Amino acid sequence: MSDLATDRKIDRSKMQVSDEVAIEINGMNKWYGAFHVLRDINLTVNQGERIVIAGPSGSGKSTLIRCINRLEEHQQGRIVVDGTELTSDLKNIDKIRSEVGMCFQHFNLFPHLTILENCTLAPIWVRKTPRKEAIETAMHFLEKVKIPEQADKYPGQLSGGQQQRVAIARSLCMKPRIMLFDEPTSALDPEMIKEVLDTMIELAEEGMTMLCVTHEMGFARQVANRVIFMDQGQIVEQNEPEEFFNNPQSERTKLFLSQIL
Ligand code: ADP
Ligand code: MG
Repeated sequence: MSDLATDRKIDRSKMQVSDEVAIEINGMNKWYGAFHVLRDINLTVNQGERIVIAGPSGSGKSTLIRCINRLEEHQQGRIVVDGTELTSDLKNIDKIRSEVGMCFQHFNLFPHLTILENCTLAPIWVRKTPRKEAIETAMHFLEKVKIPEQADKYPGQLSGGQQQRVAIARSLCMKPRIMLFDEPTSALDPEMIKEVLDTMIELAEEGMTMLCVTHEMGFARQVANRVIFMDQGQIVEQNEPEEFFNNPQSERTKLFLSQIL
């Protein structure tokens, strides 16, 4: 079992789950053409939860979290984020996207913009934040992810770990209430995984609601309050980390764990 690739002390007492529902998914189904990719997904996420989504490649993990901010469209069932239902109504989609930040495996920074410009673009043009304020906010979050000195460089001049921390800072500049992570460390060398996980742990300690698709099972054990296991488009099993790892219920979960631990 890979331990969490960090020696950072983790203060779980700061990670409080509230009664307030952040995301509610009911009877959700999605198809890619004729392919039924998500089947009867039911999931309630409360504010402050840190959820790790695990499962074999192709099980629908990315599709599920991409549906939550409408990067993919679901065809059946309901997705409600912070009280707003995801429908084709653009007002609702905009509202939800303003509350949900997302980090991808391949960072997706704009290569022709500086780090600072990457972080101020959406606040200035989407949020209409005054430039000076957007810059102050960007520098605040670049300091938080510990790379303020890189502000005037371009993404290609940074390491993968630094780029991913910029991507997280860029999301935070939009002041999201929920963060979605899709394998944020999978493209990184081991020594850079730690710095990105440290940033994610800090966010968790600040009470951020987080859904993380990750193979970092040490992170799942130490930071998550719930692990969800998906296979073939379904949520097969979910539990608190200790139970999930020590006492898996379904054969599919047992098989998966035997392959990765
Ligand atoms: P995971 O993230 O768990 O690896 P994905 O959500 O990426 O799984 O994919 C689930 C399934 O849907 C896979 O079989 C994949 O090939 C298929 N798939 C993903 N994206 C598309 C798409 N845009 N069009 C058609 N099929 C897709
Ligand atoms: Mg994926």
